Amino acid sequence: MVRVYNFSAGPAMLPLEVLERAKDELLDWAGTGMSVMEHSHRGKAYVERAAAVEASLREVMGVPDNYKCLFLQGGAYGEFAALPLNLSAAGQSIDFINTGDWSTKAIAEAKKYAVPNVIASTKEGGFTDVPDADSFTVNPDSAYLHYTPNETIRGVEFDYIPDSKGLPLIADFSSTILSRPINVTDFDVIFAGAQKNMGPSGLVTVIVKDDLLGKARVECPSVWDYTQQAAADSMLNTPNTFGWYLLGLVLDWVKDNGGLEGMGQRNKAKADVLYDYIDGSGYWTNPVAKRARSWMNIPFLQPNAELDKQFVSEAAKAGLTNLAGHRSVGGMRASIYNAVPLEGVQALVEFMKEFAQKNG
Ligand SMILES: *Cc1c(COP(=O)(O)O)cnc(C)c1O
Repeated sequence: MVRVYNFSAGPAMLPLEVLERAKDELLDWAGTGMSVMEHSHRGKAYVERAAAVEASLREVMGVPDNYKCLFLQGGAYGEFAALPLNLSAAGQSIDFINTGDWSTKAIAEAKKYAVPNVIASTKEGGFTDVPDADSFTVNPDSAYLHYTPNETIRGVEFDYIPDSKGLPLIADFSSTILSRPINVTDFDVIFAGAQKNMGPSGLVTVIVKDDLLGKARVECPSVWDYTQQAAADSMLNTPNTFGWYLLGLVLDWVKDNGGLEGMGQRNKAKADVLYDYIDGSGYWTNPVAKRARSWMNIPFLQPNAELDKQFVSEAAKAGLTNLAGHRSVGGMRASIYNAVPLEGVQALVEFMKEFAQKNG
């Protein structure tokens, strides 16, 4: 068996220990004589496991009792519609900070249901920085403030939590959840598609403060209605049973590896290795302002972009896969989520050195 280092932005690399456990349990899960996928989501065995996974998420992230944890479908993109339908009135404004492609998509989606009010944007600078913390003013009449702590495509990450001046603060944590400790109470809604740091695609986790429930519009699809899903333990309809189960295995792995403190140390060390090499290389560059550099998604450019394809294909032959930048941006990007080990980043740096020597 040859496992590559997969630098994909998502669906992304999963820990080998998690995959091995899933494989061991696949045919006969928990001594039931069938796989977890074949279980009814209403059966005792599955319901108990689903509750245990929720407890595990609460433990790992420190989610207080006055927040619900929902396990939904439709991805983070679905939440771009679910949020206005749950939390705003028709015609009400919603504040946004636009720092990249995912904020832009969230704004476009919200526009179908409410009135987006972009209070800060880094678009003019090509989305290579975050706005200064004191450079924007929230509208007190807005339903909430939405922002993206880590913009996955261009590798731009906030180094502070925006002050929402009392508005509910909604954070799209898709590409940075579980990557380091956070204080859940700094936010009113945290949501994340699972396929970056939590498990397979098809599952989206929404952590929502109780006092925001009960406000969904009648036209909000029931499966996306936080209040209905909270009352049904996210089983109003059939959930993504396998994804939910696999999240549990990922959380066990996080706990075995030092919890979020451990993840944070590991991820900081990985990002430092790559940025330090890029900055000192005299060949590669990272276009993002230093204060806004992502720990999870690291774009890098070379002097002659015509060599990008060659780099990506030679790297893949060397077992370093999915290094092409997003189709809208070009260049290269290494996504180094929790499951990418330090050795993978070191192998990438060695490969980049050789490539720069040959072509520089
Ligand atoms: C990947 C991603 C999304 C979209 O997630 P889906 O699960 O594909 O809908 C949204 N926001 C951010 C920040 C992402 O990284």
